[in-house]
Amino acid sequence: MNIALIAHDRKKDDLIQFATAYKPILSKHNLFATGTTGQRVIDETGLAVHRFQSGPLGGDQQIGAMIAQNNMDMIIFFRDPLTAQPHEPDVTALIRLCDVYQIPLATNMGTAEVLLKGLEKGLVDWRLLNERRK
Ligand code: PGA
Repeated sequence: MNIALIAHDRKKDDLIQFATAYKPILSKHNLFATGTTGQRVIDETGLAVHRFQSGPLGGDQQIGAMIAQNNMDMIIFFRDPLTAQPHEPDVTALIRLCDVYQIPLATNMGTAEVLLKGLEKGLVDWRLLNERRK
């Protein structure tokens, strides 16, 4: 599975905590991230991550392009709901594309835990989900 990790600045500590706790599951998948988030995940968890541009410089759009090409299976995106983002249109576009292509999207730690536990326990038929996308 290809999984993208994104966190706004005030949510990055939460994402590192999450990635550390779920490292045994995450390490079985191909991880992608926006630039700064990805660097922190690499440095602080040791997970292998393909880094795109930083979010405000187009990273969200690069991950969106992977969705549009049917190359992304799950997005974990810890948004900051209390701070205005300069790239708000990109954030909205990424969330919209998840809905267009039926990509599981977690925007907070509670949902992210449910998704990863479901993934680990084989509760989601990913092949079926992938078929529906076509
Ligand atoms: P960053 O981008 O990981 O490069 O900080 C995240 C974002 O703001 O969308």
